[in-house]
Amino acid sequence: MSTRPRLGDAANDRTTKEEYAMFRRALLVTSIVSAVAIPVGFANADVGATARPAFKMPFSYGKTFYANNWQGHKPKNSIDWQSYGKDAVDKEPVKSAASGTVTTVRDLGNDSYGKYVVVSHGRGWQTLYAHLSAFSVKVNQKVSTGTQLGKVGSTGGSQAPHLHFEEKLNGSVQTPVISGTTVGYGSKKALTSKKG
Ligand SMILES: [Zn+2]
Repeated sequence: MSTRPRLGDAANDRTTKEEYAMFRRALLVTSIVSAVAIPVGFANADVGATARPAFKMPFSYGKTFYANNWQGHKPKNSIDWQSYGKDAVDKEPVKSAASGTVTTVRDLGNDSYGKYVVVSHGRGWQTLYAHLSAFSVKVNQKVSTGTQLGKVGSTGGSQAPHLHFEEKLNGSVQTPVISGTTVGYGSKKALTSKKG
């Protein structure tokens, strides 16, 4: 929820790739070990893939933004959605990444998430949207994929407008998958919002 993203230099990118490869190997081993004990929705997209909702990019169709899963970000594997080129993220409508029910609409003032929304998607999955400048939904409201939840801002512990985003399973943040693209720990990817 802190917001100072670190832009990787070449050395950093190399380290990130190596760490990511190690992370994937560790995840594979962990998944095999835990496949019996935790059969549903483990972080590995290959295991329990049917359990994870098909999360979409939480923005209007055609917008391109950086998804930054930066090292040291809290909680780990949160994404900061940031401006990309001419696409400025400030004041953009924030859309639900999948259908579900709004379970939290809360304002923490100048701390932490600031204004944030949580949507529950069933089977233990939730998405969280933080540092909003405005809300468009109420608690217990049913939402579809693409329903507007609020607008991007810089409330709470934020230093510049961006959208802090989490995909959570049973309360713990998972490695995010957006329209089938995994944004692994330490990686920063420019993604474009698709239809649907
Ligand atoms: Zn953040």
